[in-house]
Amino acid sequence: MIIHMSRTAAAEDQARIYDKITAAGFQYEVIHGATGINVIGILGDLSRVPESYFRELAGVDKVVRISKAYKLVSREYSAKSKVIDLGGGVSVGAKELAFMAGPCSLESVEQMMTIGAYVSSMGIKIIRGGAYKPRTSPYSFQGMGLEGLKLLAEVRKKFGLKIVTEATGLHHHIDEAGNKEQRNVLENVIDYADIIQIGARNMKSYGFLQELGILTKDCKKPILLKRGDSSTLKDFLLAAEYIVANGNPNVILCLRGIRTFEEEKFQRYTPDIGAITVLKRESNLPVIFDPSHAVGYRASVPGAALAAVAAGADGLLIETHNDPPNAMCDGEQSVTEEQLRDIKRKADVIWNLFW
Ligand code: PEP
Ligand code: MN
Repeated sequence: MIIHMSRTAAAEDQARIYDKITAAGFQYEVIHGATGINVIGILGDLSRVPESYFRELAGVDKVVRISKAYKLVSREYSAKSKVIDLGGGVSVGAKELAFMAGPCSLESVEQMMTIGAYVSSMGIKIIRGGAYKPRTSPYSFQGMGLEGLKLLAEVRKKFGLKIVTEATGLHHHIDEAGNKEQRNVLENVIDYADIIQIGARNMKSYGFLQELGILTKDCKKPILLKRGDSSTLKDFLLAAEYIVANGNPNVILCLRGIRTFEEEKFQRYTPDIGAITVLKRESNLPVIFDPSHAVGYRASVPGAALAAVAAGADGLLIETHNDPPNAMCDGEQSVTEEQLRDIKRKADVIWNLFW
């Protein structure tokens, strides 16, 4: 539910409304509308609270009940698009295309220093890389774990890059030698990441999403939430709502392709480019696109990446590797340094042309 204050509302009127909201057991946030008039968003399940409970109060212009199943992430709740500020002049959802690139998985110091150097030389400000990998097979490489997070922190320091890395759950990572980390994966990732990635496989782990919202309530570290490969856009927005409703409003929506009947030798998923427009219209959150997982093959990545920018994506998340044929994870879809440089150059041209 949203309360629009009238132009003539006094500070005391507003304070009285805050008291009434808290007395009813709800939390609120102040949203400044495009008009500059204060708009107050009430958080929580308001299905049993009539609009009249607030409408009669002094200073109130109108009370609007959000009709959509997803509330806080909706355009109805905030007409203003959310900008996620990462500090140091880097943001997602602002005037600049948010370009994130790096390997699927962290493998070694040498690999990350090589990739960190070429990524930063292109003017890219955010590097990706998984320390914890959600693998379909238990026999596949599970990631470097905490050691990988420490390596990312070194890359951040050396090249001045922000880091996005995935938290796969609340479990304790066990390495190939059977050693178990002391703290759970999410707690470790919260400590090291600038953006916490939640993968397609976990988009429907509702308990995890709740815990994520609660554990990042104070630090409010941005969460990059990927669309589940078989999830509807409504499911996707409700998954984002789980995080926001539990305390962290800084969510970035990431499309990454959906299940396809196409043969895997041609395409891994179907790029959901059309969904960019839908999400931008339905939600106030930034929307980025991952062409690498969407198409699954290096040759098709540039086209999908550029189409997403033309369609209005706020950013891209791209897999790149210094030695793709020998990558430990997703090598076939990882672009080379040269390809990445070309995508970056063209994406900037398209961005400047359209947005
Ligand atoms: C990844 O980004 O490497 C990844 C595992 O992506 P997704 O969750 O979209 O499969
Ligand atoms: Mn990957």
